[in-house]
Amino acid sequence: MKLLKTEMTPKERLLSYSKGEEVDRIPIVLIAGETIPLLYGISISDYYFSADLMVRVESKIAEDFQADNMGMGLGLRTLVEALGTKLKYSDNNVSYILEPAVRDYSELEGRRFIDIEKDGRIPIMIEAFKRLLDLFGEKRTIGTGSAGPFTIAAGLIGTEKFLKDMRKNPDGIHQVMKYSTENYIKFATDIYNNLKIKSMISEPMICRNILSPSNFKNFAAPYLKRAIEHMTKVYGGPPGIHACGVTHDRWEEIINLGIGSFSVDNCESLLELKKQHGEDIAIVGNVAPVDVLKNGTVTDVEEDVLRCISQAGDNPCGYTLCPGCTIPIGTSKENIIAFMNAGAVYGKEARKGKMPKGIEAYIDRESDKP
Ligand SMILES: [Zn+2]
Repeated sequence: MKLLKTEMTPKERLLSYSKGEEVDRIPIVLIAGETIPLLYGISISDYYFSADLMVRVESKIAEDFQADNMGMGLGLRTLVEALGTKLKYSDNNVSYILEPAVRDYSELEGRRFIDIEKDGRIPIMIEAFKRLLDLFGEKRTIGTGSAGPFTIAAGLIGTEKFLKDMRKNPDGIHQVMKYSTENYIKFATDIYNNLKIKSMISEPMICRNILSPSNFKNFAAPYLKRAIEHMTKVYGGPPGIHACGVTHDRWEEIINLGIGSFSVDNCESLLELKKQHGEDIAIVGNVAPVDVLKNGTVTDVEEDVLRCISQAGDNPCGYTLCPGCTIPIGTSKENIIAFMNAGAVYGKEARKGKMPKGIEAYIDRESDKP
């Protein structure tokens, strides 16, 4: 399958769309990063430690798919590694946590803060970002994403202890949340001041599947709010957030954190999100990553893209087509091209708050059928 050609550069498209002008197609972003090197025959552990390979993979993704975003994500573990958590790397899979940085909450007193020039893999990533800005900065918006304060806190003390201590030692949890929040803010601010790169917040654990409503209110919301308010001042506009899992019981509270865009898991309804909060936030998502992008046929991909755009394509604050979570390892190039192409067809001639003309054309075609 060949990628359909589009007219605008990603930068032109995103700028015009944000101003409410009509664009050639709806914005489309990929959450790829650390799961994609294998598609190009590159081992994941080599990729993690090489600015050359990061630039090569990003250049390939841009050439092959022409998505509107570019730039490596820090994923869920880069910041905790930079703060002392030990990770295990392998060739064919993403890293995982071997040993949390903090065994006892007393170790947090007077503990050092993150230094993006020195800690973990961040200096390698900064080198790669500088090269991407030189090579592509004129036509493309370079960005990144990272675990937010809540996920960082879990990675610093270990997820099991983190969840247990919400009941057993709430003071300890507040202590680690304060520390992780200040480190998140320092990282995101320093990266922005150095490179003018904005970071999207990923919080896979703030869902009902893992966190009760009261624990969300007590231990996650106040710290996320602080980080989001701070980054809004630094960026001059609110950051976006991605949450995995079931979140609709707390949408109101998540939106009240002050976010600009919300990327929801594919288990959630874009139609509902638009009905309830479309006047407040841009919607991002939510093509099913595993069932459709990885395991589905090209037709499945096209149908799921149609579902997403016809549900949220006319969202008042805008819609961006995107997988519902990170693209899984083993997803074929064919399916990612099908995703981009279906987005270009159904999302053709898009404008914030109005259904793209690609959807109108589809409806006309269907009604002509006998
Ligand atoms: Zn997710």
